[in-house]
Amino acid sequence: MSTARTIDGRVAAQTVLDDVAREVAALHENGIEPCLAVVLVGDDAASDVYVRNKVRRAQEVGIRSVEHRLDAATSEAALLALIARLNADPKVHGVLVQLPLPAQIDAGAVIAAIDPLKDVDGFHRENVGRLALGEPTLAPCTPQGCLILLQQTLGDLAGKHAVVVGRSNIVGKPMAALLLNAHCSVTVLHSRSENARELCRTADIVVVAVGRAGFVDAAWIKPGAVVIDVGINRVGAALAGEPARLVGDVDHASVLQVASALTPVPGGVGPMTIACLMRNTLLAARRQSLSLPDPLTLAR
Ligand code: NDP
Repeated sequence: MSTARTIDGRVAAQTVLDDVAREVAALHENGIEPCLAVVLVGDDAASDVYVRNKVRRAQEVGIRSVEHRLDAATSEAALLALIARLNADPKVHGVLVQLPLPAQIDAGAVIAAIDPLKDVDGFHRENVGRLALGEPTLAPCTPQGCLILLQQTLGDLAGKHAVVVGRSNIVGKPMAALLLNAHCSVTVLHSRSENARELCRTADIVVVAVGRAGFVDAAWIKPGAVVIDVGINRVGAALAGEPARLVGDVDHASVLQVASALTPVPGGVGPMTIACLMRNTLLAARRQSLSLPDPLTLAR
């Protein structure tokens, strides 16, 4: 039985980060200091880790980061007022509000309040619309990272049949748009899909973002397909004496026997997400500061 190649997201992410660091240094020479503002509301442990990782990566590539840590009881009005200040601050190029937000705050209203030019998460409806139209934009970081991994693995994606399992606004839908813009034939599966497994088994490319540990196994995969596992699930903590560990939405042991290449969890899509956030911050800084063409092609 064949064994799939493991796609190393850490190595790919470092390549993206090295490119970003070079371009950031060039901006510094022009007197421009790219700056990312990260807003965290409340004390969710996972969000705290994500924010710390983003701030650390920013420092590593020379991007200034400003953290705004707000109390869990912060009102929507207070958060919107902070976003308005960050939008108006010419020294801030990217604004990221870590999700999820406490129940009293409407995440949709918050995302809509971020200046689309500073929307480094790519969640604002203007950027979502641009992506859907195939126009250059700040595309969401996780699917952007998946696309880079796929292009590095397969080269030109034109004509491939890609199946995206999951249709969330932050992963599944923008992933489908990016793959369509890369000239794939795209099928999106979700909880109401009929014959999901059979449809998936016709795909050359499978991107899984469901949020269920080990959900997609070998029976879903055509021999030789390339599989990207977006899922991050914590398992094991409930069992006595077993430390929590991270697993993806793909059953790796079985899919490794069928696929030609597969991303691991951890060490696959996760590092790419943060690298693409740095890339988006660089692109946002360039667009706001210079009339020069972008050094890296904006995602289409
Ligand atoms: P959501 O919960 O928002 O979306 C899950 C999607 O899976 C929904 O569209 C849902 O369908 C679909 N789904 C659920 N059950 C089934 C089923 N039985 N068959 C087919 N589809 C199904 O999750 P996210 O997209 O936000 O995240 C998905 C995973 O990716 C999570 O594990 C998350 O932690 C991880 N993630 C990882 C990131 C990274 O950087 N590596 C970044 C973001 C997320 P429906 O719409 O019909 O309900």
